[in-house]
Amino acid sequence: QLVFLTGGSGFIASHILEQLLSNDYRVIVTVRSALKGDKIISSFPEDTRKDISYEIIEDIAQDGAYDEAIKSNPSIDYVIHTASPYHHNLQDPVKDFLDPAIKGTTGILHSILKYAPTSVKRVLLLSSTATILNPSNHAKVYTEEIYGTTTWEEAIGGPLTYRASKIYSERAAFEFIEKEKPAFDLVTLNPSLVFGPPPKHLASLDALNTSNHRLRDMILGKMRENIAPTGPVHIFVDVRDVATAHIRALQIPQASMQRFMIVSDYFSNKRIADTIRERYPQLKDILPAEDSLDDFPESIYGFDVSKSKKMLGIEYRDLKTCVNDAVEAMISQV
Ligand code: NDP
Repeated sequence: QLVFLTGGSGFIASHILEQLLSNDYRVIVTVRSALKGDKIISSFPEDTRKDISYEIIEDIAQDGAYDEAIKSNPSIDYVIHTASPYHHNLQDPVKDFLDPAIKGTTGILHSILKYAPTSVKRVLLLSSTATILNPSNHAKVYTEEIYGTTTWEEAIGGPLTYRASKIYSERAAFEFIEKEKPAFDLVTLNPSLVFGPPPKHLASLDALNTSNHRLRDMILGKMRENIAPTGPVHIFVDVRDVATAHIRALQIPQASMQRFMIVSDYFSNKRIADTIRERYPQLKDILPAEDSLDDFPESIYGFDVSKSKKMLGIEYRDLKTCVNDAVEAMISQV
């Protein structure tokens, strides 16, 4: 079966691609340049390469960006939409974040409706717990029944732009289905902060995706003097579990029109540093000091991921496994 995977050069997409191929799917990835497409293909063994091809889409925010790619591949069975900006280089909130996230999502849905309305059976949207959590007024226990909210003013105001880009794009996807009533259905996967081994085709650790930066910065000694604050998010998940959730969500009929919170456990930067120090004692002098402050909050919200465990059968990797495997892969890329 044929899967159309957007944002093929991305961190999470690289693991989804790997797992799709090992589950015998054929995959078309979208990338922004032929160089990126060629690099992805050549990162796989020769006998797998025949199952991957790529389409170039330079900017998903453009009207009709996906039209040609979908039109020329009308026998696609599934679409997995992961392409969306996630970085700290915010200059223009609308142009840099909100347009690619929202128009990129509605754009692909419209292209499928126009050019592959009956062959595509299901669309998966890689969303986020950003669409579930309400940081200004936390729930006691988060579940998929809860929706994060934001105003457009907050969205264009700065610190909440990324979060808003995910809230508005997920909402737009469900509204599209409600309005257009296509033959295909929708599933959203909503992971918390994702850590894990970087893509094999990564050019260098300078090009590492945003959510893995804190691990990289620790092993490069950038937090030797001062451990960085953990930040507003204290829940993580291993990228390989996020990828598995996508594969299962393609295959399980009951997943139709559901959103799945994909979260392993709590973390703090101090806990990450301690994990790395235990596994790599030789890095002791460049890691944050053993007695640095753990800023994990005294009380914190709960989260209930029984739905992803039961329906998708996910067994979440713990922080130790995730951090150790990620760091091992990063060290080999230093
Ligand atoms: P990456 O930055 O590694 O991947 C983002 C992908 O989107 C890249 O392939 C990038 O292409 C592509 N992209 C971004 N903007 C555009 C655009 N305007 N036109 C075309 N392609 C574009 O991020 P992740 O893999 O970490 O994240 C992927 C998705 O997962 C995002 O939707 C993110 O919101 C979501 N997510 C991520 C989490 C995390 O902690 N990593 C947590 C929860 C959700 P290029 O490489 O060419 O720039």
